[in-house]
Amino acid sequence: MSGRITPTICDPDHGFGIRVRLDSPKTLPVADADCRCGQFAESAEGEVAVQSLVIRAERHMRDDCPLPEVRAAAALRDWRRRHPTRRT
Ligand SMILES: [Zn+2]
Repeated sequence: MSGRITPTICDPDHGFGIRVRLDSPKTLPVADADCRCGQFAESAEGEVAVQSLVIRAERHMRDDCPLPEVRAAAALRDWRRRHPTRRT
């Protein structure tokens, strides 16, 4: 596998976002994602579909979303992924 995804599970700030659920290593992961702007709402099942859903959702929130605060939050997550905090 190339690159790990780090989905947001049940974002505490609001009811929208990306949710990924994997009950056990033997079950298929399921995910749904929706955006506060109402222009993005999808669900997926299976590892490949879930990964691509997460990527598309993040891309929407970072680049395409009409809401500036959504884009700002996504840009921050993007920055954090590229600059991981070192744990001491
Ligand atoms: Zn949006």
